[in-house]
Amino acid sequence: MSSASNSPRLHSLPLLGSGKVRDNYAVGDDRLLMVTSDRLSAFDVIMAEPIPDKGRVLNTLALFWFDRLKHVVPNHLTGEAPESVVQPDEVPLVAGRSMLVRRLKPVLIEAVVRGYLVGSGYKEYLAQGSVSGIALPPGIAQAEQLDAPIFTPAAKADLGQHDENISFDEMVTRIGPDLAEQIRAVSLQLYREASEYAATRGIIIADTKFEFGLDDNDQLVLMDEILTPDSSRFWPVDQYRPGISPPSFDKQFVRDYLDTVKTWNREPPPPPLPMTVIEATSNRYREAYERLTGQSL
Ligand code: ATP
Ligand code: MG
Repeated sequence: MSSASNSPRLHSLPLLGSGKVRDNYAVGDDRLLMVTSDRLSAFDVIMAEPIPDKGRVLNTLALFWFDRLKHVVPNHLTGEAPESVVQPDEVPLVAGRSMLVRRLKPVLIEAVVRGYLVGSGYKEYLAQGSVSGIALPPGIAQAEQLDAPIFTPAAKADLGQHDENISFDEMVTRIGPDLAEQIRAVSLQLYREASEYAATRGIIIADTKFEFGLDDNDQLVLMDEILTPDSSRFWPVDQYRPGISPPSFDKQFVRDYLDTVKTWNREPPPPPLPMTVIEATSNRYREAYERLTGQSL
């Protein structure tokens, strides 16, 4: 993907794929090196400028959560240092921003949990009174907290397509009842524990998405990244009001700036970002990390 070319590539490992944010390399045939770049996308377009520390924040935050939640379900981390599988000249490209993981058979479901009703979930509720086939009481306001978190799966779409929300029954049809029920129970438990903890740190996790894979013994393993600003909606508690959709914690400054660029049609190439916007955004990522973990990056 040429739009992803603003991050340097490793030369010693085969690149399997490059998403909007991450570059994924094969390490032998049983492991992956997932490198989180400083790329930022807004309105689905990757900005030209990297955001300093963004990749380190996302990676370190995911590691923080994997460790905190490992009693709920096994995860894909091998425990080996990413630096151990690259050449010496590549160490600065991976240090602090990568995970060395087991290569799993992906379950083609995005396991979404919502504690608050916002975004596509709120839209679906307005249109149908339900989300992913789960009927909800009338009169729920935008961004309102639900009585209990709900599991609203989506089918993973091919590259460039949007994921499709499906009902739990459809998920059962696709992957079988045992796996579907296990994923639902584990996802709700992960969300419950993470959001209870985040609340003690002044952050609401409005919703989030998990991905799972199966290992060689068909055991369920939590994979990808978890509970980062890319996979979740984080809201500072003090800015939360039901009825309005709170601004994005991480991308707010970029989106606000882009809204002022009336000449941009939201197609690549993006307009250049002012240094003040880049710095404010970088600070925001560090702030998310520091607030959630209580540590400085
Ligand atoms: P984007 O994030 O830009 O929407 P994407 O999600 O396809 O695109 P990435 O997040 O960069 O791209 O790529 C990660 C890919 O690797 C995803 O398809 C994810 O499901 C998969 N993946 C994550 N962890 C593992 C793992 N341990 N084994 C196998 N596949 C994995
Ligand atoms: Mg992804």
